Amino acid sequence: MQNRFSGKVVLITGAGSGLGRAAAVEVAAEGARPALVDVSERGLADTAAAVEEAAPGAEALRITADVTDEDAVRRYVDATRQAYGRIDGFFNNAGVEGRQNLTEDYGSEEFDRVVGINLRGVFLGLRYVLAVMREQGSGTVVNTASVGGIRGVGNQSGYAASKHGVVGLTRNSGIEYGPFGISVKAIAPGAIMTPMVEESLKQIDPENWQEAGREFVSANPMRRFGRPEEIGHLVAFLLSDQAGFINATTVPIDGGQSEQY
Ligand code: NAD
Repeated sequence: MQNRFSGKVVLITGAGSGLGRAAAVEVAAEGARPALVDVSERGLADTAAAVEEAAPGAEALRITADVTDEDAVRRYVDATRQAYGRIDGFFNNAGVEGRQNLTEDYGSEEFDRVVGINLRGVFLGLRYVLAVMREQGSGTVVNTASVGGIRGVGNQSGYAASKHGVVGLTRNSGIEYGPFGISVKAIAPGAIMTPMVEESLKQIDPENWQEAGREFVSANPMRRFGRPEEIGHLVAFLLSDQAGFINATTVPIDGGQSEQY
């Protein structure tokens, strides 16, 4: 077992489920002091239990907050700083998939909701965390984009707009903050089996969503869904000093699907 996060503080949004939980477990197992943010108190409690199991005594800080609410974002950053004094790594990850249909049927309210969480939420996180990191003179950020942020998927107006926006914010902030010793990168996961993807498959076929899932991954070169732990491994690497020279770019993790013609 490596110990890449010994004594380091890692703040994670969307920590109550899926990819955020997998990353929390991974960094805590390697010595991090995790600060977990989510709207779901229940999700946070379950993640804290998973962290405790993987890293007994890690004492995860839990903060219930909505990433679209600027005061709440300021509060989760302040609470982390108050508890631990610093923020070394930030997994800016909370997101939703939203409705799946044609652009003409998508609806402006749904568009605003999805962009509000996935893009504004990521921007607000950057705004307050990067200020702390600049003062420290160090830090690493990993934003969660998606293959839907680097390729066209279809039937996802709000998701596509928000995730392409996350890729753009990553480039922008990476270039701005590199000179201060801070790197900002993003991941672009393909289909990873989490509650979000389960919900999405249920929109395609509520009765036979597992069959819909098998059909969905038949187009993937690896013929399977990714596993949350696989994302956890990548996020831990990107947040660690080993990835210090990776900046302003987006790393796909999708079994090769986004490279396929
Ligand atoms: P998930 O639904 O399992 O977890 C997302 C978490 O974010 C939940 O705990 C939820 O409560 C929280 N959340 C939602 N809205 C929030 C808000 N306004 N404020 C605070 N927390 C909020 O989904 P996941 O698959 O783990 O997704 C995590 C990220 O990964 C998202 O940004 C998603 O778009 C992205 N992603 C997922 C996949 C995939 O296949 N699972 C693929 C590409 C990108």
